This record gives sequence, structure tokens and C-alpha cells, in this order.
Amino acid sequence: MTIHQPGETIAHRICPLCEACCGLEIRIADGRVAGIRGHDADVFSGGYVCPKGAALKDLHEDPDRLRTPLVKRGGRFVETSWDEAFAEIEKRLPPILAQHGRDAVAMVVGNPVAHKIGLLLYGPRLGKALGTRNFFSASTLDQMPKQLSAGLMFGGWLTIPVPDIERSDFLLILGANPMVSNGSLWTVPDFRGKAKAMRARGGRIVVVDPRRTETAAVADQHVSIRPGADVFLLAAMAHTLFDEKLVRLGRLAEHVAGVEEAKAAVTPFSPEKVAARCGIAAATIRELARTLAAADRAAVYGRIGTCTQEYGTLASWLVDVLNVLTGHLDEPGGAMFPKAAAFAANTAGKPGVGKGIVTGRRKSRVSGAPEIFGELPITCLAEEIETPGEGQVRALVSVAGNPVLSAPNGPRIAAALERLEFMVSLDIYLNETTRHADVILPGMSPLEELHYDVAFPQLSYRNHARYSEPVLSAPAGHPAEWQSLLRLIGIVEGKGANVDVAALDDALVAEEVRRVAGPQADAVLKAVSQWKGPERLLDLALRSGPYGDLFGVRPGGLTLEKVKASPDGIDLGPLAPRIPEVLRTPSGKIELAPQTLLDDLARPAGDLARPAPDLVIVGRRDVRSGNSWMHNLPILAKGPYRCTALVHPVDAARLGLKDGGKARIVGSAHAIETQVEISDEMMPGVVSLPHGWGHDLEGARLALAAERPGANLNAVLDDRLRDPLSGNAVLSGVPVVMSPVR
Ligand code: SF4
Repeated sequence: MTIHQPGETIAHRICPLCEACCGLEIRIADGRVAGIRGHDADVFSGGYVCPKGAALKDLHEDPDRLRTPLVKRGGRFVETSWDEAFAEIEKRLPPILAQHGRDAVAMVVGNPVAHKIGLLLYGPRLGKALGTRNFFSASTLDQMPKQLSAGLMFGGWLTIPVPDIERSDFLLILGANPMVSNGSLWTVPDFRGKAKAMRARGGRIVVVDPRRTETAAVADQHVSIRPGADVFLLAAMAHTLFDEKLVRLGRLAEHVAGVEEAKAAVTPFSPEKVAARCGIAAATIRELARTLAAADRAAVYGRIGTCTQEYGTLASWLVDVLNVLTGHLDEPGGAMFPKAAAFAANTAGKPGVGKGIVTGRRKSRVSGAPEIFGELPITCLAEEIETPGEGQVRALVSVAGNPVLSAPNGPRIAAALERLEFMVSLDIYLNETTRHADVILPGMSPLEELHYDVAFPQLSYRNHARYSEPVLSAPAGHPAEWQSLLRLIGIVEGKGANVDVAALDDALVAEEVRRVAGPQADAVLKAVSQWKGPERLLDLALRSGPYGDLFGVRPGGLTLEKVKASPDGIDLGPLAPRIPEVLRTPSGKIELAPQTLLDDLARPAGDLARPAPDLVIVGRRDVRSGNSWMHNLPILAKGPYRCTALVHPVDAARLGLKDGGKARIVGSAHAIETQVEISDEMMPGVVSLPHGWGHDLEGARLALAAERPGANLNAVLDDRLRDPLSGNAVLSGVPVVMSPVR
């Protein structure tokens, strides 16, 4: 922290509110936040900030943000001490484990976990201690298809190529809106500026989306597509590449397996055959393929819309099939693999070959959904609680999640949570999900925590290492979140609520280091002994990472001390080619045609003639929204009402809907009412509603959000719809019925 003006200090903090990970400059006066702006000298984000960044002040000061543990007594929450709260957990959780076994306790983690180093590093340790098969996360709501396709092709769950936008001259974007999101599974702060620079040097952007999104509005071309039809478009583009002899693998030729199999697989999907299914002319599809093939430096990028659909894994796979077939994978200006300084599985072990990934090691008890990346689809949660029998979920640990609003059929999840014998939540709010808990342990304001992004440097447009010190002190006695998780581990492991957290941490780390470092373990542990908790794990990861000092073997390499000494961050350079070194497939090749995916192509092949439903619903993202609790922050909540149903004028006329009027939307199990906004942004036959709203549920404590609660999109979505390979929920293109409310 440096002195700025008399009485004022300046702190720097990586913004944890979305995947863009912007560096912030925070002015502190009298122990309070006086202002937040972009950190101009940040090596990665260069001063960029969106309206959400400044909301960290509102989040920190929000009177609704929990600061004291809550325990439910007689149906009402009462404030307690930390010791009382943990004593309640110790009284109620272990007996359920003892009587009904480990699967009787489920764990759910939400999206903010990815933005908190303590939760991300210690949450899995709690999951391991619980030993339950019933582990669920937000990953099966929006990203598991991409993780699975990348795992099958490249051998790592996070070996996901991202557009090298600063050197690219053609971007094909499907189902993503980086003008608003600044990237997702692609960390790219100031997408707007980078896109502008790209176009200024003659580059082109094409957006494929059922809505003319903010990104489509600044692109060179917008191609409307029927929701859920990306697999047909992408397969037809691959078909065209083979058909018109446009395939050029370039440098990758010797590293790719399965080209002929991929060719055979896409043969049935000619542009002429899929045109009606996509709602795109065959000539347009062929032209897109030709443009991609002809571009010197190009990348295909697909995101939420390509993941949250019934063919999510296939669509995610075909995105990278196109990158490979056109010679744009792993080339400057193409789709490239970042090299993170720490925590990346694709920088560990033997380069160029590995065990690949495994799925389906177990199945969910009720619907038999296969395990994926150590978890089960979150759409299985309610049925696992409701259905009696051995292994029935009777207790739940939730960490920073709100599935009642964020997962399909939220009302069913809410009813299921009410049936639990015990629920404990670690969260910053008493929200629509945690209101069902028996104990809530308050999380921390991000300004009170140290930070280093564990996951996002693996997905960044440029390589970097940045660390943030805590900006403000936590209230006396408030444990860090990782310490609360360790205390829960102590309870689960029978060591008691008053376990010596520091000793438990030491033991866990020592065990892990011994497993990896063998005879060198003691020397390694000694080398990092100045740190505790997440900082020790970070120092271990940095020093053993690709830029690390290897504990003295490579002098001048990265250490935590060195990263800490660089408040602007350390730039590790532009993305560089990594194939074959990045691969961890058993063959040591890019698997262009994994058999699982070839088999799954039978589904869309049998679905070519499906007529368009009368009306389907899709979500959308707003720059002032992300997590549901952001609706409780004044700076983000102000302005026009945002939870509107966007409807095309033709649909509005035929359905009798009026701009600003109310409409009823009926899904498979529930109905919601919301405000109509007529807009030719939409494709006819498609209605769009943002998600994360519906703050009118009794018992939540989000006062500002409750003033304009909005409607819960997920209430009308069908929790039985999943991409069978990845278990990801189907959130896009779900049929609904819409009518005016008079
Ligand atoms: S884009 Fe906005 S919310 Fe996302 S990291 Fe940057 S400032 Fe934070």
C-alpha cells in the first residue's frame, strides 16, 4: 500500500467479480473505500474497469452482507459466536455421516469460488474429507461441455485454447457476448478496446447468436441462428472444409490423430442439409468456412450459448475442430494455450503425453448421470434429496452458491432443501438458497482477503502473474474462509470443532508435498515455511511452476516474494505455441475424433428435421449483473429495469404482447410473470430473459434486490434436460409459452 494524498492510501486489488480479472486501484481514507478505478499500470488490464469494479465498495459496505454467524433456532436465524456456530455443526453433521454414510452429505459450490483463492484451494480439500459422491458445482450449469471437449482433445480439463486477439485478424464468435462479459473461459479485459484495435488493423469479427448482442452490434457481421443449432452449423463448416479441400493442418499435421474419422463424421452434415435446422442459408455457412480457412490469423470462440444446450459437448468440440482444420490452433493470432505461472495441470508432469481424462467413474444414484471431473450434474441435486433409499442426500454443505436462482427448476430445489435434516452454508449473504440453511458461516468481503487467480491465468489472452494483498482488515475474530473450511474438515474428520487449524493445515500440506516431492519433501517444505494457508500453496505452485525458481535450482525464477514485490503484476509475455508440450493425451496427439463424441453425433444426425418450436427462451448477460447478489448493490441496481423479456416485434404482435406490459411465461413445471421489452435484436421465435433474478422469496435478506425482484428465468427451465456427455444443464432454446397478463 502506498501513500497517495494526505490521509489517503492507495491499494491494488484484482477484481474478483468476473473472469476478466482487471487490476483495480482503490483509494482508502479513514479506513473506508474512498474510490475505485482501473489500475493504469496493471500489466494485464492496463487500467480497464467496468461498472462492476466500483461495486466492490458497495459490496464491502452492504449492510446485508453477513458479518456474524447465523444459526436457525425455532425457524428463525439468530446471530451467534463463531464457536457456537461450529459447535452446532459438530452436533448435527457427524451423526448424519455416522448413521447414513458419506454420500448422505452433499456439497454444492457456486461460481464465486473460482474468484477466491482460499475457497478454490481449500474447498476441494473439504470435498475430499467428506468423501461424498454427491459433489455439485456451477460448472455443470455453464462450462462443463467445454472442459470435457478440451479434456478429450488435449488431455486436460482446463487445456482450453483462447483467441490470441491482439494478433488476430478474424474472429468467429458463437453464443458469447464479450462486449459485456469481457470473456468467459477466456480472460480478456477490455474486449471492446481489443476488438476496436483489431478492426482498425483490418480485422473482422463475425458473431453467431439468436440475439443481436452488444458484441454483434459492433461486429462486421451478425448471423442469427436458431438456439441450440450450433452443432449443425459447426459440423457443416467442417464438412465444407473437407468438401472444398480447404483443410490445412500446417505445423500441427504430425500432432493430430483422427482427421479421416472427423471427415467421415461430418460428412452427413452438408450446409444444404442443415440450413433449415440452423435458420442460416447454406451459402452463408459455406462462406463462413471459406473466410475462416482463408484468414491468416483467425480463431473460433464459442461460449455460454454453445455450452448450455443439448449438444453442448459436440458444439464445444467442433469449435476446436475448426481451429485445427484451418491451421489456426496454437498459432499466433489463432486459438492458443496460455501458460500459467501456477496451478496449471498442463505445465506439470511429463510434457506432451499423459493419462488424458476419465469420466463416469461413478453414476448418480437416481437418474444414473455419469460423474464428470469429480462431480455430478447439479440438475441431479433435488432428486438426490427427494428420493428415499440408501445414499439419499440428507445434509448439505453449500459454499458461495445460490442454486435456487441459478439452476433449472429452482422452485423444486428450494422445496428439496427444506427437506434436508441439516444444511450449513459458507456465504456472504442470506440469499434464496442459504435461507434454507441451519447454520450460515459468513464469508469475507473480497477487500479483506489476499488474492491470486488460480484458474484464470490458464485462460488469459496474455501470460501474467499478479497478487493482491488484503485492502482492509477483517473484523477481529473473523476467520478467513480457508480457515472456516479447515474447521469444517476438522469436524468431518472427527477432530472436533476446536481443531488446531494451523496444525491441520500443516499436516495436509506436508502430506501433499510428500506425495509429490518424495525425498525432497522436507527441503521443499522448509523453503516455503515462511508462508501459511493459501500463500504457502501459492508459493509452492509458483516456485515449482514453468517460470518458478524450482526452490533455488533456477535462480531468478518466480517466487511468491517476487510476485508480491510487483504491485503492477509481472507480465510473462504473449501466448506462445505449446503443442506438443501442452498435450496430456495418452497418444501424445491432438485427438480430433474422440470415439465418445463420434458416437454422440448420432443424436444431432437424427435431429436434422426438427421443426422450430413456436417460442423458445434463452438467457442474456448484462454488464451490471453477474452473480445474483449483485442486484443488491446500489451502484449496480440503479438505472433502468433490466429483468425484461426481449421479444421480437413479430412475436409480440402475434402473442398480443405490449412493450412495457406484463407477460406470463410458462415452462415445463412453473410459470413466471415479467415485463415485456419489444426489440428487433431478437430472432423471431426466441425470447430472452436475464438469469439470477427472482428476489421475492420469503426469508432471504437482500433488501435492495427485493425492491425490484425480477423473475427467475430458471423457474421455467426443465431440470430433466441435460447434455448427456457433460451433464450440463440445457438453459438455451427451451420451449415456453408466453401470453399477456391483462
Ligand atoms: S470487467 Fe468489470 S467485473 Fe470484470 S474484472 Fe473487470 S472490473 Fe471486475
